[in-house]
Amino acid sequence: MIQENLIVGFIQSLLILLIAFIFVYKYSDIRTKTTHFVCPNCASRFKLSKLKFILAFKTGFLNERIVECPKCGYRGKMPIVDD
Ligand SMILES: [Zn+2]
Repeated sequence: MIQENLIVGFIQSLLILLIAFIFVYKYSDIRTKTTHFVCPNCASRFKLSKLKFILAFKTGFLNERIVECPKCGYRGKMPIVDD
């Protein structure tokens, strides 16, 4: 009985994790498709891959991330700009 509860609990936590993952994935999919970054150093516009977007450091501001410019290698705070 106790073991069955453990298995059900385990499956439930797995499901919650899976749903959370799908939400994060979908969110980053939409965000990376509709937004871009502008490098303050070389002014080039670039998009991030989904994985990089998810892993990008947040600065505390909603539309700002710490990202690295693929052109010049500048790394710093950049605002997320809508396309
Ligand atoms: Zn740059």
